[in-house]
Amino acid sequence: MTNIPQLLRADAVDTWTETADVVVIGYGIAGACAALEARQAGADVLVLERASGGGGASALSAGIFYLGGGTAVQNAVGYTDTPDDMFNFLMASTGAPDALLVRRFCDEAAGHFDWLEAQGVPFERTYYKDKAVIAPTSDCLASTGNEKVWPYYLFAAPVPRGHKVAKVGDGGGALATNALIARCAEAGVRVMVDTRVDALVCDAAERICGVRARQTTGEITVRARRGVVLAAGGFGMNGEYMREWCPNFPTTGVNPIGIPHNDGAALELGLSAGAAVQAMSGTIATASFYPPAQLIKGILVNNRGERFVAEDSYHGRTAEYIAEQPDTVAYLVLDSATFAYPENQRAAHRLVDGFETVAEMEAALSLPEGSLRKTLADYNAAAARREDPLLHKHPDWLQPLDKPPYAAFEVGYNNSMYHYLTLGGIQTNSNAEVLDRHGRAIPGFYAAGACVSSIPQDGKGYASGLSLGPGSYYGRVAGLNAARDAAND
Ligand SMILES: Cc1cc2nc3c(=O)[nH]c(=O)nc-3n(C[C@H](O)[C@H](O)[C@H](O)COP(=O)(O)OP(=O)(O)OC[C@H]3O[C@@H](n4cnc5c(N)ncnc54)[C@H](O)[C@@H]3O)c2cc1C
Repeated sequence: MTNIPQLLRADAVDTWTETADVVVIGYGIAGACAALEARQAGADVLVLERASGGGGASALSAGIFYLGGGTAVQNAVGYTDTPDDMFNFLMASTGAPDALLVRRFCDEAAGHFDWLEAQGVPFERTYYKDKAVIAPTSDCLASTGNEKVWPYYLFAAPVPRGHKVAKVGDGGGALATNALIARCAEAGVRVMVDTRVDALVCDAAERICGVRARQTTGEITVRARRGVVLAAGGFGMNGEYMREWCPNFPTTGVNPIGIPHNDGAALELGLSAGAAVQAMSGTIATASFYPPAQLIKGILVNNRGERFVAEDSYHGRTAEYIAEQPDTVAYLVLDSATFAYPENQRAAHRLVDGFETVAEMEAALSLPEGSLRKTLADYNAAAARREDPLLHKHPDWLQPLDKPPYAAFEVGYNNSMYHYLTLGGIQTNSNAEVLDRHGRAIPGFYAAGACVSSIPQDGKGYASGLSLGPGSYYGRVAGLNAARDAAND
């Protein structure tokens, strides 16, 4: 059961150890953006961070921000994007329930990119054209979602929107958080580290007006004159909460990514104030079988020998479909013309074997007799016409698999390693206000980042960058609105 702390009453607080206009809980990307925006709006800002320094999971990330609508990089490398196209794509693909929240993000995304750059987050004016999970170069723009995947290209012209921080390969997140934290320091944001917030405080009007926190030396209470911004991360590191909130998520072949403090502390605080939650079973898991891109020309089959997802889907979408297959078993089937070893070592996809005939492979994988032979015969006949009537894989990836020998890789959860993040969390609106179960904003209380359920609701609709993009943008919205919230002045 989720541990919900008691919501404290202000009249029970004897003395406030500290006071600030805006109190920010957590110093990852959402907290840093909230603090900076609130400070730039003139507020006295105090960040309370449980770790000994800022950064959070954001600093471990690849640094891909999903942004569009005509960013400086999209324009520089020759892609035309509009807020409308971005909105239409995100509404079609993510299942986001709050169109206003998506709309605001899309309308502001290009300007938000400029703001990030102005704070010192580095981006190149380059495009990485190959299919990769994280571009191995320092190139910025890449396709990181399902834009080119059926049926989504029918809703909006597919353009790349993943903007990676200028760092070769993985790990660009730290460049972003370092820049933002440095800018916070210059701007005069106050920070207390080794400070774990363990309760919220509300006044007689049910307004969130402060927090209680623990430090090594004891307990402190901090009054927030204007607002409290919750930005304390997700809950993927909490095994108990995973079982409670994501009961259908596979329990084998999975490993959470993030920092130990992504343990649901933010969720607990939100629930204590009566916040509504949303998309709680949503996760993004990944064990991509590509690169190399040629593997996308293979087919994925389950233990009935049937295809179940277009193989050119975003890897998080594929992962969620695999999780739904019987016993979470899946195989990547290739012929000699498409064969290569998956480059993603962390996914630990195992080569089953090579086979002279499809019938031998079918028997070795214990698939129902004739199943794989039929699946491949149907696939090959249509692929020869550059069609995929079953799952609509893009013609670029269609090629008959008819050159023996054949090979199969294990790509299911039963025999691979999937890394995951949670997507569910506290419900907020387009002002980053925390909503209660009746859809009303809880006064004085704002939230952003991985502790909220924002735009993507599950792995099928995720695109790389849909955590840092909306998390950083709505962090700013939360900070600004908290700074302007003068109710307690
Ligand atoms: C390896 C990896 C790669 C990723 N790559 C990408 C990517 O390229 N693009 C993308 O969009 N997403 C990516 N993600 C996901 C993304 O990094 C996170 O969703 C995002 O960083 C969350 O930001 P946040 O500010 O909400 O949380 P965090 O960055 O986790 O920050 C939360 C902070 O709150 C603190 N905290 C927790 N509890 C308390 C408390 N009670 N009191 C005070 N402080 C508290 C924590 O110590 C932490 O510093 C990646 C994640 C990982 C782990």
